[in-house]
Amino acid sequence: QNITIAIDGFSSTGKSTVAKQLAKALSYVYVDTGAMYRAVTLYAMQNSLIAEDCFDTEALINQLDDINISFKFNETLGFAEVYLNSVNVEKQIRTLEVSKFVSQVATVPEVRRQLVKQQQQMGKDKGVVMDGRDIGTVVFPDAELKLFMTASANTRAVRRYEELKERGDDVSFEDVLKNVETRDRIDSTRKDSPLTKALDAIEIDNSNLTLSEQFETILQLAKQ
Ligand code: C5P
Repeated sequence: QNITIAIDGFSSTGKSTVAKQLAKALSYVYVDTGAMYRAVTLYAMQNSLIAEDCFDTEALINQLDDINISFKFNETLGFAEVYLNSVNVEKQIRTLEVSKFVSQVATVPEVRRQLVKQQQQMGKDKGVVMDGRDIGTVVFPDAELKLFMTASANTRAVRRYEELKERGDDVSFEDVLKNVETRDRIDSTRKDSPLTKALDAIEIDNSNLTLSEQFETILQLAKQ
């Protein structure tokens, strides 16, 4: 029978890679909730609501109803890309620039409330793999399978750095490592639904696991 699979963890723990593989193998829907927070952040940047030294939280809250986030499945890529007000922003949301502001945007309770509601709607018919920071704790506390992914900060920064380099982004390893550590700190210390392992989540440290070892382990858990 179809179940809900919640995958949470720190930045760049490979959650989305394994979530995509899993959704494909099980013919489930995959929802990347980080992409939703990133799309709201991109909107805030485009509208000058957030920058290096300012964040107009009030204005963002007032404009929340003008931010429409949706996903559309891309057959070639094999996963759903994210759209902000009907514009495909899949590439734009992955820049280090967006990564620098996203955790601040994700501390705003009104933003979280709106996105959580939308996520619950998207996963209500089950047969869903959702990844994020609060899926097993807040979005789907009754999920049948909850995973909590971890890996050392250095391992994660190397992965993220390689991803950004592959895309042709001009970034330094130090900046990427700093961003990963800063986001982890903000995500786990914010007041509203901080990143924490759900009591019934299974922890998987993938620092020393290959992608296929990790995938096989999780697939077995999903089939139990
Ligand atoms: O998963 P990803 O790294 O793309 O998420 C970007 C940021 O969005 C996280 O660092 C976190 O601040 C926020 N986020 C969140 N809750 C989620 C998913 C992401 O707060 N469910």
